[in-house]
Amino acid sequence: MAKYIAILGSTGSIGKNALRVIDALGPEYKVAALSAHSSTELLAQQAMQYKPQVIAITNPELYKQLHELTGDLDIEILAGPDSLIKIAQLDQVDIVLAAIVGAAGLPAVLAAAKKGKALAIANKEPLVIAGELLTAAAKKSGSTILPVDSEHSAIFQAIQAGCREEVSKIILTGSGGPLRNVSSQDIQNVTPQQALSHPVWDMGPKITIDSATMMNKALEVIEAHWLFNIPVDIIDVLIHPESIVHSLVEFVDGSVIAQLGTPDMCLPIQYALTYPRRVAGIAKHLKLEELGQLTFEKPNLEKFRALSLGYQVARTPGTAAAVFNAANEAAVQQFLEGRIKFISIVELIEHCLNVHNVSTNASLEELFEADAWARKEVSECLNQKVF
Ligand code: NDP
Ligand code: MG
Repeated sequence: MAKYIAILGSTGSIGKNALRVIDALGPEYKVAALSAHSSTELLAQQAMQYKPQVIAITNPELYKQLHELTGDLDIEILAGPDSLIKIAQLDQVDIVLAAIVGAAGLPAVLAAAKKGKALAIANKEPLVIAGELLTAAAKKSGSTILPVDSEHSAIFQAIQAGCREEVSKIILTGSGGPLRNVSSQDIQNVTPQQALSHPVWDMGPKITIDSATMMNKALEVIEAHWLFNIPVDIIDVLIHPESIVHSLVEFVDGSVIAQLGTPDMCLPIQYALTYPRRVAGIAKHLKLEELGQLTFEKPNLEKFRALSLGYQVARTPGTAAAVFNAANEAAVQQFLEGRIKFISIVELIEHCLNVHNVSTNASLEELFEADAWARKEVSECLNQKVF
């Protein structure tokens, strides 16, 4: 029977790769719904090619433009942020691929989890902010959460070699990002252009900056903690510039099981869509003999303070993670728009964490409030020229 997929964020890096994967998977996989925020032309093109039942534009001001671009197509067009919730809960949808960037994806991800959909999740921020609520909702409804983030897909695959009580360590690998070899001194004034030139992965701008600050790895530690119900203290990070070993799981007997592959997001996207099956796909196969060697080193926690902050946040229940994430989203946007220095991203995050009053056992509403508070705090700091 065909599988119907809704892609939330089909115009982004993950969304476009997912459509390439679906093209190659053939008629068994069908596109049921697509969404974009600003790229109306691309969404209209995708709608013409894939003919989903529904498309959504989350910026409501672009509805008219999208309507005109899609002409006579017999497709329902939704507008506004809540349209993502409707898409995530459509009866005909089997798999929701969450490929939106940032906290904006949280309501729809939660809606999909509550409705019992298979949830292929690239959009890590909702897991960071509301991991507890999200995993509980999925458990209650029987929704399977399938990680798309390459490290978490690797852990998901490797962890199948034993049972959860037998896991003694999770080792998350990271490329080290575009600034791995930049000195602590020079890193202070890195430009957006420098920070956007990732040596291995071709990704959207926000995650590429997160990779430069190593905030991405910090978010991934928290993501792994919730996805696999694993204590933070047994999650390690190892820098692996070649990005071939996507992560490793160590078991109590000392065996370490890793997942390897070429650095291509099509592989984890495909595995999430075809799970529990494996099928031939478009990712290039690995030729280890051509690589010669694989290298690993410990992360520099003094240079990349976001990672140490991430560990602290991961150990703090409640609203801290929402503040950590939102302060970062706001600061990254300011950096990309040229208003703050690179180093101010982590300074602003640390400031927000220091002044925030953490509320434990937070409800969804409190998490959203903490998120909004952090964004406001970042903008007030900038207005007062504190950073
Ligand atoms: P992109 O910036 O390339 O794409 C983001 C997508 O989200 C676009 O479709 C965009 O629409 C949409 N979008 C942006 N803002 C909003 C909003 N406020 N409301 C609704 N939709 C919005 O990001 P990536 O594809 O790189 O990343 C997506 C997620 O996947 C992130 O959480 C990232 O951390 C994660 N991820 C990405 C990887 C990668 O290789 N790219 C690897 C691992 C994880 P539009 O373009 O129309 O504005
Ligand atoms: Mg990753």
